[in-house]
Amino acid sequence: MARTLEVPEYEVHAGVDLDPARTALIVVDMQNDFVKDGGALQVPDAEATIPRIRELLEKARASGARVVFSQDTHDEGDPEWEIWPEHARKGSWGHRIVEELAPRGDETVIQKVRYDAFYGTHLDHFLRLWGVESLVICGTVANICVHYTAASAALRWYDVVIPRDATSALHPFDLETSLRQTAFLFAGRITESAGVRL
Ligand code: ZN
Repeated sequence: MARTLEVPEYEVHAGVDLDPARTALIVVDMQNDFVKDGGALQVPDAEATIPRIRELLEKARASGARVVFSQDTHDEGDPEWEIWPEHARKGSWGHRIVEELAPRGDETVIQKVRYDAFYGTHLDHFLRLWGVESLVICGTVANICVHYTAASAALRWYDVVIPRDATSALHPFDLETSLRQTAFLFAGRITESAGVRL
């Protein structure tokens, strides 16, 4: 039985001022399998976020902020394929980051095996080497890989910023619960892409 619930209020900041020298933009899992028609786990709203993410990339690149892409990466026998259909098989078309958001050669791509981009990766190591304190996290899926990466970042005391028009979920409920958790539980700041000031 469907139930109707109100989303509790959370603050949406008109703008967030960030120091480019201490900020990284994290683009989560914008891969063909999650974004494009024919992808194994397509999120219908993900493609519409590409222009917003491009704007964030342009801002980060122009300001000198670090840019990191996460790339969901699985191979034969991965237990995640028992939860989800096969997706993000290493080396496949679906595994590739969408061409509109192709990483530049000097940008870091973190291949990850779970929802959390910190789990089992060198992400925290690089962020600390670079002196990063604030993370602008966008991409897909809002309540899965974006959320668990934001949560993991916040638990490590990074300052988390989520531009809500640059993330996407399978259902509006999932998007709202994730944003509310980030604001309420992690003191993360929710804004729009245009509000990210670098
Ligand atoms: Zn996966």
